[in-house]
Amino acid sequence: MADPLLVSIICPAFREQEVLPHFHIELSRVLATVATQYHFEIIYVDDGSRDATLSVMRKIARDDSRVRVLSLARNFGKEAALQAGLEHAQGDLLITMDTDLQHPPELIPSLLEKAKEPVDLVVTVRQDYQKPGLLNQVGTQIFYRILDSLSEIQIRRETSDYLLMTRKVADLLIQMPEKHRFMKGLIHWLGFAYLEVPFRPKERTLGETKFSFGQLIRLGKDCLFSFSKKPLTLATTFGSIALGVGLIWAVAGLVQMLFSSGGSWMAYYMIVSSHVLAGAVLLAIGILGEYLGRIWEQVRCRPNYLLKYDSRQAEPHHAAHQSPHIKVFQASAPAEQEIA
Ligand code: UDP
Ligand code: MG
Repeated sequence: MADPLLVSIICPAFREQEVLPHFHIELSRVLATVATQYHFEIIYVDDGSRDATLSVMRKIARDDSRVRVLSLARNFGKEAALQAGLEHAQGDLLITMDTDLQHPPELIPSLLEKAKEPVDLVVTVRQDYQKPGLLNQVGTQIFYRILDSLSEIQIRRETSDYLLMTRKVADLLIQMPEKHRFMKGLIHWLGFAYLEVPFRPKERTLGETKFSFGQLIRLGKDCLFSFSKKPLTLATTFGSIALGVGLIWAVAGLVQMLFSSGGSWMAYYMIVSSHVLAGAVLLAIGILGEYLGRIWEQVRCRPNYLLKYDSRQAEPHHAAHQSPHIKVFQASAPAEQEIA
């Protein structure tokens, strides 16, 4: 009989000291139900937390040999933490999930069951879920409307980044040299057929969301500007409209100058048109700046994350050979923090 498949569970965590022990207990309980069919490795990626997250992870790793802990040098963001996890995972199947229990571990057996079909992706799909907070809900609505109309690919809004991928998909993702990564978008861009597992995300009971409104906007911009060139062409459209309107006003102004003496609406026209034009020009420059900034970051070739600790590596700097994206600069293990 063939060896059981190795499944890597990749869990990024930023300041999750309260929930992590509960998450690990819950995850272990679920994995025990399918332990006869698969081997598991659990990769916890500490995304530069300043609380006791890393020491909680290291404690878990001491008690459970399936656990590997990676720690990023600072907070590089969830997407970078996911990338670090993918690049270090060795599994034939890889599952990415949050550690705050909003991605319920009890779906893992269903994900694995669907992965027996000839597909490379099994994606969880949120049902009846709204992010907490009116600002977040309205922002998400607007963002997906804009993305749907501008993006070159269709990103299904309800899909989450709690998903299972085969080694083939993981290798393709790892090879993508993108700086501004948005995994959900990249997965859709790859275009693989996928199976779905519906779920209702739970409310967070421990800790709080790590995405501020500002970070959501940044993620939204990454998604929009990485998957669409159309905003660039908006400048041309705005410019043409502004030029057309300007020409009509110019003719109207000329006619008024020739045939009447009053000029009050002309002053109004000057104020309005200068504001509209200045706004349109600044918007166009801003859009260009967004793309230029991304090109600049891409050619600057800095890694998307720096790793400061890997529980599997006695000599962490060897990891630098595994991937061009990985740089390790600190060989010593970080000091243990007191677990609160
Ligand atoms: N996360 C991370 N780095 C960050 C922000 C979040 O690794 O900079 C992790 C976080 O610990 C959690 C997952 O990403 O495991 C989802 O974050 P969160 O629950 O805060 O987001 P939300 O569910 O509110 O969208
Ligand atoms: Mg969450």
